[in-house]
Amino acid sequence: MSALLDGVYEGSMTMKELARHGDFGLGTFDELDGELIAFDGEFYHLRHDGSVNPVHAEEMTPFASVTYFQPETTFTIDRPMSRTDLEALIDGLLPSENLFYALRMDGQFEQVVTRTVTKQKRPYPTLVEATKSQPVFTLNQVEGTMAGFRMPAFAQGLSVAGYHLHFVDDDRTGGGHVLDFTLLGGTVQIGQPAELHLHFPETAGFMNADLTGRDVAGEIEIAEGGASR
Ligand SMILES: [Zn+2]
Repeated sequence: MSALLDGVYEGSMTMKELARHGDFGLGTFDELDGELIAFDGEFYHLRHDGSVNPVHAEEMTPFASVTYFQPETTFTIDRPMSRTDLEALIDGLLPSENLFYALRMDGQFEQVVTRTVTKQKRPYPTLVEATKSQPVFTLNQVEGTMAGFRMPAFAQGLSVAGYHLHFVDDDRTGGGHVLDFTLLGGTVQIGQPAELHLHFPETAGFMNADLTGRDVAGEIEIAEGGASR
């Protein structure tokens, strides 16, 4: 994630290889060409034009987080809840702030506000620059799935601390990185992966990047729309 903030957007792992590490998660693509969401072993490529396509095996990612999703806690929501309310509810259920959690929500949403990053050209701008003009979509009265993670504060920079969710609608006609939402009703599932396996990209971009002295938390707040807000 720190490298992504620095503009290291060259893909370093294929979807085929990524899928060996999990059936659920999120990420982005080579040259920041859209958002990845995965669940039930299905991996989708969401682009800024609103398109949703199953990924190709050879597509590359510079950053992704995946796990084999094993829900340990499941509950139903039957009243409208804002993102803030739902995050507070989930926080109250977690046994510790210091573990990694995989989260899945399936349901009816009054509104989902998403953004989708757009393909960048060299020389790559930083993530804060690249996301300044990001297309933001508001999906109203939509059914779909959110998949992502809640990560502890110490994971900031490796990944995104706090909540980080991607969304795709049931019709597979839209979605992206979640900025805000109101859930009307649905199911929430929480898994608790016990291990973190970190793959280092051995691209020239990563090897030569200067990843020191960056305000990682501040830039993630701006670029990712306040993932832990
Ligand atoms: Zn995202």
